[in-house]
Amino acid sequence: MNNKTNIYPSKWKSAKQGKCPRCRTGDMFNGSVLNIFNNGMKKECPHCGLRFEKEPGYFYVAMFVSYVFVVAELITACVATYILTGNDSSPWLYVVICFVVVILLAPFNGRYSRVALLYWLTPSFGFNPKYFGENIKQLDFSLSTDTESKDIEMQDIG
Ligand SMILES: [Zn+2]
Repeated sequence: MNNKTNIYPSKWKSAKQGKCPRCRTGDMFNGSVLNIFNNGMKKECPHCGLRFEKEPGYFYVAMFVSYVFVVAELITACVATYILTGNDSSPWLYVVICFVVVILLAPFNGRYSRVALLYWLTPSFGFNPKYFGENIKQLDFSLSTDTESKDIEMQDIG
């Protein structure tokens, strides 16, 4: 059984490729990050059926993750600009650099803030090997975790 874990892609690799956090097989996004006309997010995983937006408005949390990304990128860009140009008299160079960096990296931030949210800040979306690859064929789609928990509640009442 332990040997089997080697066949699964790592968490970082799956996150980088934008794979579903539960099955690491289905794609979370329609196109690549560079395809700015078709890089939207899918509602659910095409492979295991996981609904990515866990609850309404869940992706608002990704804005905070995106904020952290942007701050880190701007600090890096400004420090790099200072090291390369040694400019300490005019703020306009830094303002322009900040605008360019934010606009150029917007698709990256939008995508990977959601990926980081689902992979590292949503414990209920952990990797489940039974959904990986072709394993999905053995599963019964009618039993999602929600209906399972409801069934258990019903049995308790009954
Ligand atoms: Zn999936």
